[in-house]
Amino acid sequence: MKNIYCPKCGNEMKNKNNELICESGKMHLSKIIEKELLRRFIYECYPISEKIHEKGHKWYCPGCGVPLKKDLSCNLCSKSIADLKYQLVEFHPHE
Ligand SMILES: [Zn+2]
Ligand SMILES: [Zn+2]
Repeated sequence: MKNIYCPKCGNEMKNKNNELICESGKMHLSKIIEKELLRRFIYECYPISEKIHEKGHKWYCPGCGVPLKKDLSCNLCSKSIADLKYQLVEFHPHE
C-alpha cells in the first residue's frame, strides 16, 4: 500500500497495532479520519515526484506529503482536507 503522510508535518505515518500514527508528532489518527484519508488519498492519488518543503505552511497532503495551499487543497492531486480541519485541530493534538 502507498504511504500516508501526516497532514500536520508531512512525515510518513507509521502503522502500529492497526493505528496510523505520526511518530514525531505523537499523533494518532482517529478511525474516522483515517478512513477518510485513505479513501480520499490512497485509493486514488498521483505518484509523488519529490517532497517540497516550504516555510510557513502548516498542513500537508496525506497522499503526497507536500505542503497544502492556504485553502488546504493540494497542488499535485488537487484534493482537499478543508472539511476535516476542525476534527484534525480539535481531536488530534500534534507536538
Ligand atoms: Zn506529524
Ligand atoms: Zn496530494
